[in-house]
Amino acid sequence: KESNTRENNVAKIKVVVRKRPLNKKEVSRKEDDIVTVSDNASLSVHEPKLKVDLTAYVEKHEFCFDAVLDEHITNDEVYRATVEPIIPTIFQRTKATCFAYGQTGSGKTYTMQPLPLRAAEDLVRLLHQPIYRNQRFKLWLSFFEIYGGKLFDLLSDRKKLCMREDGRQQVCIVGLQEFEVSDVQVVKEYIERGNASRSTGSTGANEESSRSHAILQLVVKKHNEVKDSRRNNDGNETKAGKVVGKISFIDLAGSERGADTTDNDRQTRIEGAEINKSLLALKECIRALDNDQLHIPFRGSKLTEVLRDSFVGNSKTVMISCISPNAGSCEHTLNTLRYADRVK
Ligand code: ADP
Ligand code: MG
Repeated sequence: KESNTRENNVAKIKVVVRKRPLNKKEVSRKEDDIVTVSDNASLSVHEPKLKVDLTAYVEKHEFCFDAVLDEHITNDEVYRATVEPIIPTIFQRTKATCFAYGQTGSGKTYTMQPLPLRAAEDLVRLLHQPIYRNQRFKLWLSFFEIYGGKLFDLLSDRKKLCMREDGRQQVCIVGLQEFEVSDVQVVKEYIERGNASRSTGSTGANEESSRSHAILQLVVKKHNEVKDSRRNNDGNETKAGKVVGKISFIDLAGSERGADTTDNDRQTRIEGAEINKSLLALKECIRALDNDQLHIPFRGSKLTEVLRDSFVGNSKTVMISCISPNAGSCEHTLNTLRYADRVK
């Protein structure tokens, strides 16, 4: 009973900001660190400005969030502050989402990559606890990407996928490969394999992957003894089992990419418009969720459609907003903080 109370106390929506340290390049350029973390829930940004007569001054912007993590915080501490409290609720029909938002280079991938590994470790450990041991629960992993509004399986040679709804607000991504994970070491391999197959294009890996959303899902399913022994043609058990709960980790496209709508290149413009649309739709969905609105505007983008079942019922959302501390990123940093402020 006690633990139940505690689990129900996990906030439905949590907005966390993470500041990365200045990198070598920024240090060598002698760039100022303009972000001051005041305490574990607030920060200020010191924006360098010029008056009309060209004298320099600083405008101070203050923000508060559920948590603010400074540049000394480790990935393990990030896990404990964000995902760890949600893990037990996954066994109680919760659909959770954890987003990394921010401009390219702000630390989204650095922050996001270790989280599913730690989550899988805890989920696998819970599966073996006496209360769940006899329930035939299993953990499944899938990893896909949304690029230009289309879905690609990152663990199946970038096979193009499509989405279907079953009328009961369940989302089904047709053909998406799911892998059973009983050992955490394989999770690491799947993450590495998936990351290696993210959009690379001709301009270089980081450039292109910043235009896509990567979604890694860990799903707990309950398996029926009889059906379980019947496997489908390709030998995996994807169809078997009933979803109990899940957690999705989303490494979002670079937030600055949403502004690529006036670029000279047509493809870049189309992708920019799609990213802009999806980040706006995401914000609207989280706000609707927070206000207990019955209508969640998930149809606004592919991203929110795919995550539709995570925006209804028992859901938990963690938004980790990543920011760069250097003066040159001031505008993007303020945009990220304002977005996070809106979601909160
Ligand atoms: P993004 O995915 O947002 O484009 P990355 O996660 O690739 O950004 O981070 C950009 C660079 O900064 C990488 O070299 C990464 O290792 C480094 N970095 C990001 N966050 C941190 C951090 N908190 N501590 C140390 N290095 C970091
Ligand atoms: Mg990245």
